[in-house]
Amino acid sequence: MKPHGIKDPYSYPTFLINEQICGQNIHHMAEKARANKLIFRPHFKTHQSVEVGEWFRRAGVTAITVSSVSMAQQFAAAGWQDITIAFPLNLREIDAINQLAETVSLNVLFDMPEQADGLAVKIKYPAGFFIKIDVGHHRAGVLPTDFETIDTILSAAGSDLLQFRGFLTHAGQTYSAKSREEILNIHRKTSAILFSLKQNYIQKFPGIITSTGDTPSCSLAEYFTGIDEIRPGNFVYYDLMQLRLGSCRFEQIAAAVVCPVVSVYPARNEALIYGGAVHLSKESIINADGSKNFGLIVPFIDGKWQKPEGDDSLVSLSQEHGIFKTDSHWARSLKPGDLVAVIPVHSCLAANLFRIA
Ligand code: PLP
Repeated sequence: MKPHGIKDPYSYPTFLINEQICGQNIHHMAEKARANKLIFRPHFKTHQSVEVGEWFRRAGVTAITVSSVSMAQQFAAAGWQDITIAFPLNLREIDAINQLAETVSLNVLFDMPEQADGLAVKIKYPAGFFIKIDVGHHRAGVLPTDFETIDTILSAAGSDLLQFRGFLTHAGQTYSAKSREEILNIHRKTSAILFSLKQNYIQKFPGIITSTGDTPSCSLAEYFTGIDEIRPGNFVYYDLMQLRLGSCRFEQIAAAVVCPVVSVYPARNEALIYGGAVHLSKESIINADGSKNFGLIVPFIDGKWQKPEGDDSLVSLSQEHGIFKTDSHWARSLKPGDLVAVIPVHSCLAANLFRIA
């Protein structure tokens, strides 16, 4: 919460977006989709911002992905007409889904026959559905070999108002990959799995598509054989996790959290910032020595964050406090009252914590 009565805009942690870099990231991914003849349906859960959504619209985007019914409502109200809720259908939200389906072209996800059955009996307006496939992330989805469940979902969704749109996945296991080659291998395997499923069902359901979309795969892959639609989200800002995975360069990171330095502790080469888990989340990456890294501290000069001066990493976070290691000469010269920028580990979570309009 912003305190009252303070004029200095950086007196408390501030989520900053570089519009130019953001625009370049959007343009680059939109061009990649165009070059590969893919439907580009970016995930808006990263930014959750109507304004950033408009930057996508300027790049020609008309179809979007969201991760909740409330997010679908937010963007439908902002004029988005083609929305996929890429989260398995929650049977307790069918009323809201009906309201959305009345006004926008809506797609939902099933990974259990009960969801298909539950919606089929209550749906009042035309809607599309994808079957969510688990290609190895093991978070949600039907295993690609489980034809029995796929067929049962298809029969359970037997309403004239429900149209089968195809097979959708999120290969989130790319986030645990150890190399770019491993990410590309996951991408190739994912594409082959979805394509084979589509081949199995295309005769019966002409027009079905394959949809995938994790930022590491979409950023690194040049070819998308077997894929019809991509839905990356994180690429709009990128972050420290993506930098570590090799999905982006530092220059492509479009969001940072500006934090005041509160105290410095030269005896232990550490400093304290106003910036904690409520601003950055507790997401971490693991350093080579096994320690946790909650964000990278970089200089903030003339309203812009700069390249890192060294390994000035956030080593611990509590609710409002962050402690960072002052590795570089620059970090050791910091004084209370100075400003630093934190490159967040996971920009989706940091953006969500600040929730810009
Ligand atoms: N689609 C689904 C179903 C997701 O869960 C996510 C992210 O969690 C995405 C797309 C976007 O992936 P990323 O965050 O890697 O851009």
